Amino acid sequence: MASAKHENPSFILNAVKNVTIEDRPIPTLKNPSDVLIRVGVTGICGSDVHYWEHGRIADFILTAPMVLGHESAGTVVETGPACKHLHPGDRVALEPGVPCRLCPYCKAGTYNLCTDMRFAATPPYDGTLAKYYVLPEDFCVPLPPHVSNDEGALVEPLAVGVHVVRQANVQPGNTVVVFGAGPVGLLIAAVAKAHGAVKVIMVDIVQPRLEFALTYAATGVFNAMHSRDPKVNAAEIIKQFDLGFGADIAIDASGAAPSINTAIHVVRTGGTYVQAGMGADEISFPIMAMCCKEITMKGSFRYGPGDYKLAVDLLAAGSVSVKELITSRFKFEDAEKAFEEQKKGKGIKILIDGPQD
Ligand SMILES: [Zn+2]
Ligand SMILES: [Zn+2]
Repeated sequence: MASAKHENPSFILNAVKNVTIEDRPIPTLKNPSDVLIRVGVTGICGSDVHYWEHGRIADFILTAPMVLGHESAGTVVETGPACKHLHPGDRVALEPGVPCRLCPYCKAGTYNLCTDMRFAATPPYDGTLAKYYVLPEDFCVPLPPHVSNDEGALVEPLAVGVHVVRQANVQPGNTVVVFGAGPVGLLIAAVAKAHGAVKVIMVDIVQPRLEFALTYAATGVFNAMHSRDPKVNAAEIIKQFDLGFGADIAIDASGAAPSINTAIHVVRTGGTYVQAGMGADEISFPIMAMCCKEITMKGSFRYGPGDYKLAVDLLAAGSVSVKELITSRFKFEDAEKAFEEQKKGKGIKILIDGPQD
């Protein structure tokens, strides 16, 4: 950093495994309804680590330096003249993807599918690991006084969980099996429970993760190392947890082929399957089981209208708790260490405090 007084320290990915903290100009409001936010806390996501390690995710390729981070909460410091609800000093969770609002998907109320989405820390758009960030007012969700900025940073992955549970149409009394006990799987389980699911079974192959899941939101856990055969595992899950003809809903938050196969066998006839985890581009799965059981299969991508708000409401009401998922935190200057730790797979959610000066 050149000068002693820093304007907008930003954590920048220049190329694979090449990051620097640079002072960038404070972003300016581009529209009358924009707000300027001082970022308080940012959580690291698997996607941030993936860009840091590989410089790309699918067709999104890093071609120029980009600020990382997209899971943030902070404080409004300036509002544009057309802002109606927010004021300087308000604490907010930052919804990091701003859609075009004009394309057929936006107009149909599915803005997460927007063809012209500007999403933080997805090339070429800068992320939120900086001192300041600009968003339209309606993409900032106010945090009530009893919800901290740390919890506010976890609204992003929680909103992913909310969207998955809405895609699955979880109803009171449903039985749900969630594959993958990482941050998103855990949050899906918590939201499913808040929606009235009576059994929420989590499946993973890492025993400590399952043990944590049981203390968090799962009503039962199953270690998939039990068998290499997805059919055997599915039958065992149904038997152990008394799921009758099978689970009403199976959700994969792992992206792993064995989990996806087991999930399709664990769903009851007429049940629902949702793919929430990203993994290999292509896998083989039992399509005949899907056909003969008339399973409804859906994808789930980020979050759409109302998901961020519901995530904050669930936290505010105490229906979902996220504090337990925070396993460590780093100073902004040490952000790269946070990435190293996340890569090692230690902990669940790692937070980085916003720059202090
Ligand atoms: Zn994320
Ligand atoms: Zn659009």
